[in-house]
Amino acid sequence: MLLDGVVDAVVVTAAKEDDDLAPAPLLARTPEEVLRGRGVKPSLSPALSILDEVAADASIKRLLFCGVGCSVQALRSLNGGDPEAALGLEAGGLFVMGTHCVDNSPTVEANRGFLQALGERPAEGAAARYEFMADFQVHVDRADGTTSKSPYMVLPGTVAKASIAPSCLTCFDYVNGAADLVVGYMGAPLNRGESMRNALLQVTVRNPKGAAMLGRAERAGTVVIEADSRVAPLPTSGDRGKTAKATTQADSIVLEMLGEAVRDKGMPRPLAKVLAFVLRRVAPKGLEFAKYSIEYHFLRNDLASRDAWGTKRALSQMPAYAKAIVAQHDEWMDELRERIAAKRD
Ligand code: SF4
Repeated sequence: MLLDGVVDAVVVTAAKEDDDLAPAPLLARTPEEVLRGRGVKPSLSPALSILDEVAADASIKRLLFCGVGCSVQALRSLNGGDPEAALGLEAGGLFVMGTHCVDNSPTVEANRGFLQALGERPAEGAAARYEFMADFQVHVDRADGTTSKSPYMVLPGTVAKASIAPSCLTCFDYVNGAADLVVGYMGAPLNRGESMRNALLQVTVRNPKGAAMLGRAERAGTVVIEADSRVAPLPTSGDRGKTAKATTQADSIVLEMLGEAVRDKGMPRPLAKVLAFVLRRVAPKGLEFAKYSIEYHFLRNDLASRDAWGTKRALSQMPAYAKAIVAQHDEWMDELRERIAAKRD
Protein backbone atom coordinates (compact mmCIF):
# COMPACT_ATOMS: atom_id res chain seq x y z
CA MET A 1 0.00 0.00 0.00
CA LEU A 2 2.94 2.28 0.70
CA LEU A 3 4.68 1.41 -2.57
CA ASP A 4 1.48 1.99 -4.56
CA GLY A 5 0.85 5.33 -2.85
CA VAL A 6 -2.41 4.14 -1.29
CA VAL A 7 -1.10 5.35 2.07
CA ASP A 8 1.52 7.95 2.96
CA ALA A 9 2.77 6.23 6.13
CA VAL A 10 2.31 3.09 8.21
CA VAL A 11 2.22 2.70 11.99
CA VAL A 12 3.93 -0.54 13.03
CA THR A 13 5.34 -1.96 16.24
CA ALA A 14 9.08 -2.27 15.76
CA ALA A 15 11.64 -3.39 18.32
CA LYS A 16 14.01 -1.04 20.10
CA GLU A 17 17.43 -0.84 18.44
CA ASP A 18 19.18 -2.53 21.38
CA ASP A 19 16.49 -5.03 22.43
CA ASP A 20 14.55 -7.32 20.08
CA LEU A 21 11.94 -8.01 22.76
CA ALA A 22 11.15 -4.37 23.60
CA PRO A 23 8.33 -2.90 21.49
CA ALA A 24 8.65 0.61 20.06
CA PRO A 25 5.92 2.17 17.87
CA LEU A 26 7.29 3.44 14.57
CA LEU A 27 5.84 5.73 11.91
CA ALA A 28 7.21 4.04 8.80
CA ARG A 29 7.59 5.85 5.48
CA THR A 30 9.65 3.30 3.54
CA PRO A 31 9.20 -0.45 2.93
CA GLU A 32 12.41 -1.06 4.90
CA GLU A 33 10.92 0.69 7.93
CA VAL A 34 7.66 -1.23 7.56
CA LEU A 35 9.64 -4.48 7.68
CA ARG A 36 10.98 -3.49 11.10
CA GLY A 37 7.46 -4.25 12.32
CA ARG A 38 7.81 -7.95 11.44
CA GLY A 39 7.48 -10.51 14.21
CA VAL A 40 5.72 -10.70 17.52
CA LYS A 41 6.65 -8.28 20.33
CA PRO A 42 4.80 -10.00 23.16
CA SER A 43 4.52 -7.18 25.69
CA LEU A 44 2.30 -4.11 25.94
CA SER A 45 3.29 -1.36 23.53
CA PRO A 46 2.34 2.34 23.68
CA ALA A 47 1.14 2.16 20.08
CA LEU A 48 -1.02 5.29 20.21
CA SER A 49 1.83 7.54 21.36
CA ILE A 50 3.01 7.75 17.75
CA LEU A 51 -0.26 9.38 16.66
CA ASP A 52 0.95 12.83 17.76
CA GLU A 53 3.57 12.54 15.00
CA VAL A 54 0.84 11.69 12.50
CA ALA A 55 -1.33 14.65 13.55
CA ALA A 56 1.65 17.01 13.36
CA ASP A 57 2.61 15.98 9.81
CA ALA A 58 0.39 17.65 7.20
CA SER A 59 1.84 15.43 4.45
CA ILE A 60 0.12 12.33 5.90
CA LYS A 61 -3.39 12.18 4.47
CA ARG A 62 -3.76 8.39 4.34
CA LEU A 63 -2.49 6.09 7.06
CA LEU A 64 -2.26 2.33 7.59
CA PHE A 65 -2.34 1.49 11.30
CA CYS A 66 -1.22 -2.00 12.36
CA GLY A 67 -2.01 -3.02 15.93
CA VAL A 68 -3.69 -5.18 18.54
CA GLY A 69 -7.35 -4.96 19.52
CA CYS A 70 -7.12 -2.55 22.46
CA SER A 71 -5.04 -0.09 20.40
CA VAL A 72 -7.45 -0.33 17.49
CA GLN A 73 -10.47 0.26 19.74
CA ALA A 74 -8.81 3.32 21.28
CA LEU A 75 -7.85 4.59 17.82
CA ARG A 76 -11.39 4.17 16.47
CA SER A 77 -12.85 6.07 19.44
CA LEU A 78 -10.60 9.13 19.09
CA ASN A 79 -12.41 12.44 18.67
CA GLY A 80 -15.82 10.92 19.45
CA GLY A 81 -15.36 8.22 16.81
CA ASP A 82 -13.80 10.42 14.10
CA PRO A 83 -10.06 9.61 14.24
CA GLU A 84 -9.51 10.73 10.64
CA ALA A 85 -10.38 14.34 11.51
CA ALA A 86 -8.33 14.18 14.73
CA LEU A 87 -5.26 12.97 12.82
CA GLY A 88 -5.65 15.34 9.87
CA LEU A 89 -6.36 12.47 7.45
CA GLU A 90 -8.69 12.72 4.48
CA ALA A 91 -12.15 11.14 4.78
CA GLY A 92 -11.72 7.39 4.36
CA GLY A 93 -7.95 7.76 4.74
CA LEU A 94 -7.52 5.45 7.74
CA PHE A 95 -6.82 1.77 7.05
CA VAL A 96 -6.49 -0.69 9.95
CA MET A 97 -4.74 -4.04 9.84
CA GLY A 98 -5.13 -5.85 13.16
CA THR A 99 -3.51 -8.89 14.67
CA HIS A 100 -5.05 -11.49 16.94
CA CYS A 101 -3.93 -10.78 20.48
CA VAL A 102 -4.24 -12.54 23.81
CA ASP A 103 -2.24 -12.80 27.05
CA ASN A 104 0.31 -10.08 26.36
CA SER A 105 3.11 -9.55 28.91
CA PRO A 106 2.93 -6.43 31.08
CA THR A 107 6.65 -5.59 30.63
CA VAL A 108 9.74 -6.72 28.78
CA GLU A 109 11.13 -7.97 32.13
CA ALA A 110 8.07 -10.21 32.56
CA ASN A 111 8.74 -11.47 29.07
CA ARG A 112 12.29 -12.41 29.97
CA GLY A 113 11.05 -14.20 33.10
CA PHE A 114 8.70 -16.21 30.91
CA LEU A 115 11.48 -17.18 28.52
CA GLN A 116 13.70 -18.22 31.41
CA ALA A 117 10.91 -20.43 32.76
CA LEU A 118 10.71 -21.95 29.30
CA GLY A 119 14.38 -22.91 29.54
CA GLU A 120 15.72 -20.23 27.19
CA ARG A 121 19.20 -19.10 28.17
CA PRO A 122 20.65 -15.86 26.74
CA ALA A 123 24.01 -17.64 26.38
CA GLU A 124 22.40 -19.80 23.69
CA GLY A 125 21.37 -16.68 21.75
CA ALA A 126 18.82 -14.14 22.95
CA ALA A 127 15.23 -15.01 22.10
CA ALA A 128 13.93 -12.44 19.63
CA ARG A 129 10.29 -13.53 19.53
CA TYR A 130 8.00 -16.37 20.50
CA GLU A 131 4.47 -17.56 19.89
CA PHE A 132 2.10 -20.11 21.42
CA MET A 133 1.23 -22.28 18.41
CA ALA A 134 -1.55 -24.76 17.68
CA ASP A 135 0.78 -27.75 18.17
CA PHE A 136 0.76 -27.05 21.95
CA GLN A 137 4.32 -25.79 21.79
CA VAL A 138 5.91 -22.38 22.26
CA HIS A 139 7.98 -21.61 19.16
CA VAL A 140 10.99 -19.39 19.82
CA ASP A 141 13.06 -17.51 17.24
CA ARG A 142 16.45 -16.39 18.51
CA ALA A 143 18.46 -13.41 17.34
CA ASP A 144 21.26 -15.73 16.14
CA GLY A 145 18.88 -17.45 13.70
CA THR A 146 18.35 -20.64 15.71
CA THR A 147 14.88 -21.78 16.80
CA SER A 148 13.32 -23.99 19.46
CA LYS A 149 9.96 -25.56 20.26
CA SER A 150 8.96 -26.33 23.86
CA PRO A 151 5.70 -27.97 24.93
CA TYR A 152 3.45 -25.63 26.94
CA MET A 153 3.56 -28.11 29.83
CA VAL A 154 7.25 -27.53 30.65
CA LEU A 155 6.17 -24.17 32.07
CA PRO A 156 5.46 -23.99 35.81
CA GLY A 157 1.91 -22.86 36.52
CA THR A 158 3.24 -20.06 38.70
CA VAL A 159 4.72 -18.23 35.69
CA ALA A 160 1.33 -17.46 34.11
CA LYS A 161 0.13 -14.68 36.42
CA ALA A 162 3.40 -12.71 36.22
CA SER A 163 3.55 -13.11 32.44
CA ILE A 164 0.11 -11.75 31.59
CA ALA A 165 -0.88 -8.08 31.94
CA PRO A 166 -3.97 -7.50 34.15
CA SER A 167 -5.65 -5.72 31.22
CA CYS A 168 -5.37 -8.89 29.13
CA LEU A 169 -7.17 -10.92 31.82
CA THR A 170 -10.27 -8.77 31.33
CA CYS A 171 -10.01 -8.44 27.54
CA PHE A 172 -12.50 -10.03 25.13
CA ASP A 173 -11.10 -8.65 21.88
CA TYR A 174 -8.89 -11.58 20.90
CA VAL A 175 -10.11 -11.30 17.29
CA ASN A 176 -9.55 -7.53 16.96
CA GLY A 177 -13.14 -6.78 16.07
CA ALA A 178 -12.69 -3.14 14.99
CA ALA A 179 -9.97 -3.70 12.35
CA ASP A 180 -10.65 -3.74 8.60
CA LEU A 181 -8.51 -6.85 8.17
CA VAL A 182 -7.05 -9.19 10.80
CA VAL A 183 -4.05 -11.52 10.55
CA GLY A 184 -3.00 -14.28 12.94
CA TYR A 185 -2.17 -17.93 13.27
CA MET A 186 -4.99 -19.38 15.27
CA GLY A 187 -7.45 -20.71 12.67
CA ALA A 188 -4.90 -21.80 10.07
CA PRO A 189 -3.87 -25.46 10.08
CA LEU A 190 -0.34 -26.00 11.41
CA ASN A 191 1.17 -28.77 9.34
CA ARG A 192 3.77 -31.22 10.58
CA GLY A 193 7.26 -29.71 10.64
CA GLU A 194 6.04 -26.13 10.22
CA SER A 195 7.10 -23.40 12.62
CA MET A 196 6.00 -19.86 13.36
CA ARG A 197 8.35 -18.80 10.54
CA ASN A 198 6.60 -20.64 7.74
CA ALA A 199 3.14 -21.57 9.09
CA LEU A 200 0.01 -20.56 7.21
CA LEU A 201 -1.87 -17.53 8.51
CA GLN A 202 -5.56 -16.86 8.97
CA VAL A 203 -6.81 -13.61 7.43
CA THR A 204 -10.22 -12.24 8.41
CA VAL A 205 -11.76 -9.65 6.10
CA ARG A 206 -14.29 -7.47 7.91
CA ASN A 207 -15.42 -4.94 5.32
CA PRO A 208 -14.87 -3.70 1.74
CA LYS A 209 -11.78 -1.75 2.80
CA GLY A 210 -10.26 -4.94 4.25
CA ALA A 211 -11.20 -6.85 1.07
CA ALA A 212 -9.47 -4.20 -1.05
CA MET A 213 -6.34 -4.41 1.15
CA LEU A 214 -6.17 -8.19 0.77
CA GLY A 215 -6.91 -8.03 -2.97
CA ARG A 216 -4.08 -5.56 -3.46
CA ALA A 217 -1.62 -7.79 -1.55
CA GLU A 218 -2.71 -10.81 -3.58
CA ARG A 219 -2.27 -8.99 -6.89
CA ALA A 220 1.17 -7.79 -5.77
CA GLY A 221 2.13 -11.41 -5.02
CA THR A 222 2.92 -10.73 -1.36
CA VAL A 223 0.02 -12.95 -0.25
CA VAL A 224 -0.98 -16.32 -1.70
CA ILE A 225 -4.45 -17.54 -0.70
CA GLU A 226 -4.38 -21.29 -0.12
CA ALA A 227 -7.98 -21.70 1.08
CA ASP A 228 -10.88 -19.26 0.82
CA SER A 229 -14.09 -19.55 2.85
CA ARG A 230 -15.98 -17.86 -0.02
CA VAL A 231 -15.08 -20.81 -2.25
CA ALA A 232 -15.13 -23.82 0.11
CA PRO A 233 -15.37 -24.48 3.87
CA LEU A 234 -12.06 -24.00 5.68
CA PRO A 235 -10.31 -26.98 7.34
CA THR A 236 -11.80 -27.74 10.75
CA SER A 237 -12.12 -30.79 12.99
CA GLY A 238 -12.53 -31.83 16.63
CA ASP A 239 -14.70 -30.80 19.59
CA ARG A 240 -13.73 -27.48 21.14
CA GLY A 241 -16.24 -27.59 24.01
CA LYS A 242 -14.65 -30.41 26.01
CA THR A 243 -11.12 -29.11 25.41
CA ALA A 244 -12.06 -25.55 26.43
CA LYS A 245 -13.63 -26.87 29.65
CA ALA A 246 -10.61 -29.05 30.50
CA THR A 247 -8.16 -26.22 29.76
CA THR A 248 -10.08 -23.72 31.87
CA GLN A 249 -10.38 -26.10 34.80
CA ALA A 250 -6.62 -26.82 34.73
CA ASP A 251 -5.59 -23.19 34.13
CA SER A 252 -3.20 -22.00 36.83
CA ILE A 253 -4.70 -18.50 36.97
CA VAL A 254 -8.14 -20.04 37.51
CA LEU A 255 -6.74 -22.39 40.17
CA GLU A 256 -5.13 -19.44 41.95
CA MET A 257 -8.40 -17.49 41.88
CA LEU A 258 -10.11 -20.47 43.46
CA GLY A 259 -7.43 -20.76 46.15
CA GLU A 260 -6.15 -24.09 44.86
CA ALA A 261 -2.54 -25.23 44.55
CA VAL A 262 -0.60 -24.11 41.48
CA ARG A 263 2.33 -26.15 40.12
CA ASP A 264 5.62 -24.40 40.80
CA LYS A 265 7.50 -26.78 38.50
CA GLY A 266 6.89 -27.64 34.88
CA MET A 267 6.51 -31.17 33.59
CA PRO A 268 9.79 -32.96 32.68
CA ARG A 269 10.50 -32.16 29.03
CA PRO A 270 10.36 -35.74 27.65
CA LEU A 271 6.98 -36.32 29.31
CA ALA A 272 5.71 -32.93 28.12
CA LYS A 273 6.77 -33.80 24.55
CA VAL A 274 4.73 -37.01 24.70
CA LEU A 275 1.70 -35.16 26.07
CA ALA A 276 1.95 -32.46 23.38
CA PHE A 277 2.16 -35.22 20.77
CA VAL A 278 -1.00 -36.87 22.13
CA LEU A 279 -2.83 -33.53 22.34
CA ARG A 280 -1.98 -32.79 18.73
CA ARG A 281 -3.73 -36.02 17.79
CA VAL A 282 -6.94 -35.46 19.75
CA ALA A 283 -7.31 -31.68 20.01
CA PRO A 284 -9.41 -29.47 17.71
CA LYS A 285 -7.72 -28.36 14.49
CA GLY A 286 -8.06 -25.53 12.00
CA LEU A 287 -11.06 -23.26 12.61
CA GLU A 288 -12.19 -25.44 15.51
CA PHE A 289 -8.83 -24.79 17.20
CA ALA A 290 -9.40 -21.04 16.82
CA LYS A 291 -12.87 -21.39 18.35
CA TYR A 292 -11.41 -23.48 21.20
CA SER A 293 -8.74 -20.87 21.92
CA ILE A 294 -11.26 -18.02 21.91
CA GLU A 295 -13.70 -19.99 24.08
CA TYR A 296 -11.08 -20.97 26.68
CA HIS A 297 -9.71 -17.42 26.98
CA PHE A 298 -13.21 -15.95 27.29
CA LEU A 299 -14.08 -18.51 29.99
CA ARG A 300 -10.94 -17.70 31.97
CA ASN A 301 -11.45 -13.95 31.52
CA ASP A 302 -15.10 -14.24 32.59
CA LEU A 303 -13.77 -15.62 35.90
CA ALA A 304 -10.87 -13.15 36.08
CA SER A 305 -13.20 -10.16 35.48
CA ARG A 306 -15.49 -11.30 38.30
CA ASP A 307 -12.47 -11.87 40.55
CA ALA A 308 -11.08 -8.38 39.79
CA TRP A 309 -14.29 -6.34 39.76
CA GLY A 310 -17.16 -8.36 41.23
CA THR A 311 -20.06 -9.83 39.26
CA LYS A 312 -22.03 -6.65 38.56
CA ARG A 313 -19.19 -4.65 37.04
CA ALA A 314 -17.78 -7.69 35.23
CA LEU A 315 -21.11 -8.29 33.52
CA SER A 316 -21.46 -4.62 32.61
CA GLN A 317 -18.01 -4.67 30.92
CA MET A 318 -18.34 -7.95 29.06
CA PRO A 319 -19.51 -7.69 25.44
CA ALA A 320 -22.68 -9.55 24.41
CA TYR A 321 -20.81 -11.82 21.98
CA ALA A 322 -18.52 -13.00 24.80
CA LYS A 323 -21.49 -13.60 27.10
CA ALA A 324 -23.13 -15.73 24.39
CA ILE A 325 -19.97 -17.83 24.02
CA VAL A 326 -19.41 -18.46 27.74
CA ALA A 327 -23.14 -19.12 28.33
CA GLN A 328 -22.65 -22.47 26.57
CA HIS A 329 -20.65 -23.50 29.64
CA ASP A 330 -22.92 -22.10 32.38
CA GLU A 331 -23.67 -25.57 33.72
CA TRP A 332 -20.17 -26.07 35.16
CA MET A 333 -18.97 -22.44 35.18
CA ASP A 334 -21.64 -21.33 37.66
CA GLU A 335 -20.01 -23.31 40.46
CA LEU A 336 -16.63 -21.60 39.82
CA ARG A 337 -18.34 -18.19 39.60
CA GLU A 338 -20.07 -18.77 42.93
CA ARG A 339 -16.76 -19.72 44.58
CA ILE A 340 -15.13 -16.53 43.29
CA ALA A 341 -18.08 -14.39 44.40
CA ALA A 342 -18.00 -16.01 47.87
CA LYS A 343 -14.28 -15.27 48.16
CA ARG A 344 -14.94 -11.56 47.49
CA ASP A 345 -17.80 -11.32 50.05
S1 SF4 B 1 -4.99 -9.15 25.09
FE1 SF4 B 1 -6.40 -7.43 24.78
S2 SF4 B 1 -5.78 -5.93 26.35
FE2 SF4 B 1 -4.09 -7.38 26.11
S3 SF4 B 1 -2.73 -6.38 24.63
FE3 SF4 B 1 -4.07 -7.81 23.52
S4 SF4 B 1 -5.79 -6.59 22.81
FE4 SF4 B 1 -4.73 -5.41 24.41
